[in-house]
Amino acid sequence: MSASDRQGITEPPGAAGMTRPGDQRRWDFVHAPFAQRVVFAPGALARLPEEVDQAGYRHVLVLATPEQRALGEQVLALLGSRAAGLHAEARMHVPVAVAEAGAARAQALGADATLAVGGGSTTGLAKAIALRTGLPIIAVPTTYAGSEMTSIWGLTEEGAKRTGRDARVLPKLVVYDPELTSSLPPRIAAASGLNAMAHAVEALYAPDTNPIISLVSEEGVRALASALPRILTAPEDAEARAEALYGAWLCGACLGQTTMGLHHKLCHSLGGGFDLPHAETHAVILPHATAYNAAAAPEAMRRLARALGADNAAHGLWELAGRLGAPRSLAEVGLAEGDLDRAVALATTSPYANPAPVTPEAIRRLITAALRGDPPAA
Ligand code: NAD
Repeated sequence: MSASDRQGITEPPGAAGMTRPGDQRRWDFVHAPFAQRVVFAPGALARLPEEVDQAGYRHVLVLATPEQRALGEQVLALLGSRAAGLHAEARMHVPVAVAEAGAARAQALGADATLAVGGGSTTGLAKAIALRTGLPIIAVPTTYAGSEMTSIWGLTEEGAKRTGRDARVLPKLVVYDPELTSSLPPRIAAASGLNAMAHAVEALYAPDTNPIISLVSEEGVRALASALPRILTAPEDAEARAEALYGAWLCGACLGQTTMGLHHKLCHSLGGGFDLPHAETHAVILPHATAYNAAAAPEAMRRLARALGADNAAHGLWELAGRLGAPRSLAEVGLAEGDLDRAVALATTSPYANPAPVTPEAIRRLITAALRGDPPAA
């Protein structure tokens, strides 16, 4: 395991060696929030020119995926003379070649900042460019992934994903416009929303959680659990879209501030090792990882159940995923029975902070249940 992996999604700086579950650390905490400007409003996209001026950027490179090129062009037109150009080449999991091409384009155009409009993949490209060039990032999220609230970067090379934390990749300005999420199909919104909830679930029992993070986590889960079913039945419901994005913001902030555990480790190793889709893999694993940790993190489960309006946190998440039509088996997202041995090995090769002890036998049971689409363990 490389140093950058050790400082990745599961570990913020300074977290190494912490193994005590959150429940036992209630009155022993550090809170060190990030300095970011966050603007949240329906229609906030229109405020970008004044926000860019206020931040002092003059030559901004707009980043998007090929699928969201039209939105990138809209932002380019909005920024007018403040824009250096559009680079609509972002790809899932940030392949190194894509990062290098993005950094070269930013330098060739003399950009003084990047503006990522899109989901976690686009923000991920901005972060990879920042790692190479130091260029500050403006993020305009259009999914619930939450990358805009973290200093976590990820890069993929030869099928392996490396992650790390670096202050240079934390976006300086985040502009949330719920109207931009109205084009997210409800089923994708559901998986993305469950991906966001997973950050808050693990923050509740993280070894470095604190009272503010616990409050933010619970509210993030509550907001998403309330909004996502409404989006499914009425995709045009602006209030539900706003509440879901608000929840995603809170959950992203939890991811940025705490050490993630078993759930993120499993999704990271399954996503990277078998090229499974990011948000959908989170949606499948979340009820199972929650059940795995239930007995070891009772206070986190109590808060989570309350936020979900359920008697049992893991089953509440399972039922929510079902109601939202999100995938509930790894088979549905591309894992095969023959992958089990390697999946267990990948998930258990290196130790990480988690409330319940991680053993290969228990992880095999968890992945088998998730593969087949069984309900989470009682
Ligand atoms: P994504 O960014 O890959 O987006 C998926 C697809 O949906 C893309 O084609 C995108 O263009 C499109 N899309 C995005 N928003 C849309 C909208 N509003 N309407 C229509 N289409 C839209 O998916 P994601 O789940 O947001 O991000 C996943 C990536 O982000 C993964 O690589 C993951 O590792 C990373 N991530 C990183 C962090 C971090 O803190 N570094 C946190 C979360 C996720």
